[in-house]
Amino acid sequence: MQELKKRKEEVKVAKEQKVKAIVRTYYIIEGGKIKLKNKKCSKCGSIMAHHMKPYERWACGKCGYTEFIGGSKKR
Ligand SMILES: [Zn+2]
Repeated sequence: MQELKKRKEEVKVAKEQKVKAIVRTYYIIEGGKIKLKNKKCSKCGSIMAHHMKPYERWACGKCGYTEFIGGSKKR
C-alpha cells in the first residue's frame, strides 16, 4: 500500500518538473498529462490490462501473461 502511494507521488512530482519518460514507454506525456498507453500481450497479442495492486503490472486476461513494470521486482 505504501509502495503505491509512493509511486503516485513520484508521478506527481515528475509531472510538476516536466520530466519525460518516467516509466519508459508505457506512458505518453500529452499536454502536461500522463496517459497510459495500452500494451499488447507479447504471447497472444491481445490488449493487456493495467493493474496497480499489489504491484504495478500489465496482465493479459486471455493467457494470463503478466509483465511487471520497473521497480516492482523484489526478491
Ligand atoms: Zn496473452
